[in-house]
Order: sequence, then structure tokens, then C-alpha cells
Amino acid sequence: MSILNADLHCHSIVSDGTLTPEELAARAAANGVELWALTDHDEIGGQHRAAEAARSQGMKYLTGTEISVTFAGQTVHIVGLGFDPDDPAMLQGLMDTRGGRGNRALEMADQLAKVGIKDAYEGALRYVGNPALISRTHFARFLVETGVCKETSEVFRKYLTEGNPGYVEHRWASLKDAVQWITRAGGMAVIAHPARYKFSANEEFALFSEFKAHGGRAVEVVTGSHTAAEYVKYAATAQEFGLAASRGSDFHSPDESHTDLGTLPYLPGELTPVWELLAERIQ
Ligand code: AMP
Ligand code: MN
Ligand code: MN
Ligand code: MN
Repeated sequence: MSILNADLHCHSIVSDGTLTPEELAARAAANGVELWALTDHDEIGGQHRAAEAARSQGMKYLTGTEISVTFAGQTVHIVGLGFDPDDPAMLQGLMDTRGGRGNRALEMADQLAKVGIKDAYEGALRYVGNPALISRTHFARFLVETGVCKETSEVFRKYLTEGNPGYVEHRWASLKDAVQWITRAGGMAVIAHPARYKFSANEEFALFSEFKAHGGRAVEVVTGSHTAAEYVKYAATAQEFGLAASRGSDFHSPDESHTDLGTLPYLPGELTPVWELLAERIQ
């Protein structure tokens, strides 16, 4: 095992989490996290605060983000770690990726209105901490608040997902662009929670192959989104493709997330931890 309590995937109010970067840092430290990264969706506006909060909590820090990508007709998430948070091309790329979210949200609300759920755009906005980043999660919280569903996971089963009311197809960044923004800013690209995608074996092979060809170096193996069997499966995939491994809770909220910061099994010992390759980028 690789004995370091690293949590390199979570979200703050800068994207679709409910805690501030400072609250997350305090919670991570209280749970024993030694190396932390805040990885807000398509946004790095919280990075300087998070690095400062990590320092004051006595944790090591890697810069982070989670970029939305469209690959083979599905949304894939690429985590970036250890990049320069002031890199202009990275900042511009993320701004472009966020750009379509406003119109997408209006279309989602139109669809929900057609099935009798009124004023969902205004309702979702009340949960948004960053006006540039309205996400399906904010709609999900509104649907729970109004009693349409009991919890956010039920919302994603019945609404906002393919084939259900409130789902709007969207084109995010390309895999190549996302990997290059991260690597050219000095960081490392990581395939987030690979078990969550509904790819065929061939499509998954294409994802890993193309990711590597573009300069991607790592994959999340131990994540709050994987089962124990999936840790084993993606540990083997990491070795097959010669990728380093990452570990992260994907924590969003004390009320919604079943995996708390820093409360995951350690990475299997046969894998190269992503933080070994990023040693010079750790703050
Ligand atoms: P968006 O980037 O606006 O498409 O929203 C994606 C976010 O929705 C993810 O990052 C998760 O936080 C949340 N999400 C997606 N699927 C589910 C699910 N089945 N249960 C709970 N949250 C989900
Ligand atoms: Mn999220
Ligand atoms: Mn994700
Ligand atoms: Mn995430």
C-alpha cells in the first residue's frame, strides 16, 4: 500500500460543493488528510484560497480542477493537478468550457417547466455560489427543497440525465484540449472516476489510449465513486496503460456525499501514486 492520506478530488462553493475552501481544508485536516487538492468543476477561482487554507491547516497542497470533456458522445471528467493556477491558456480554456452553462441551465428549466416544475432556473440560482458555474447539482438541490424528490441521487435517476426531463445534451471541451491545458501549465492530467462512464470496452480502450497519446499520465483508482471491485479493476488498467494512480473522495457536501474527505482505502502498493510524479509541484 502507498501510505499517504492524499485526497485529490473535492468541490467547494466555487463549483457545486456546499462548503467554502476554508471549511473543506479544516474538514480534510480534521479527517487526517496530509496532501489535499480542491478540484472545482471547470474553475480554478478557489485555488489561491485553498492553498492558503491548506497551509494554515498544516497540509501539503496540489492545485486542482476537474474539466468537463465530451468524448465518444459522453461527458468525461479530467482532473488536473499541480498546474500553475495563473496560466493564461488554462484560464481561458476553463472560461470557454464554463461559457455554455448559462444557456444550458435555461434550457434545462424550460424542459422541467414542461413537466410541471416551475421556476427551476431561479430556484437553482439560489444554490449557486459562483454565477459562472451553474450545474445540474444546483437544480438537484432545488428539486429536493421543493419536495419533487427526497434526495439528490433520486433527482439524477428521474431527471437531468439522458432520457429524462431536464437533460440537455451539451458539448464540453475536447479531450486533447483539456489534457494540453493542464500539461502545458505544468500539471498532470488524470482520468476521473473511470467506472462511472457507460462506455463499451472498445470505447474505454480508446479513451485511455487517446488520453495517453495527448500526454495524460494518471487515472483515479481509489475514489468515492468506485466500489472495492472497481479499485481492483482500475488498478489493473493503470498498470496496463502505464499510468500513475490517484485517490480522492469527490466530496461535495456533508448532507449529500457518502464518502467524507480523507476516508478512503490507501492506494494499492504496486501502483505509482500521482503525487510521486508531482513532488516538485507540491506546496
Ligand atoms: P454538470 O457538470 O452540471 O453536468 O453536473 C455534474 C454534477 O452532477 C457532477 O459533478 C455531480 O456532482 C452531480 N451528479 C451527476 N450524477 C449524479 C448522481 N447520479 N448522483 C448525484 N450527483 C450526481
Ligand atoms: Mn460535482
Ligand atoms: Mn466528476
Ligand atoms: Mn468531482
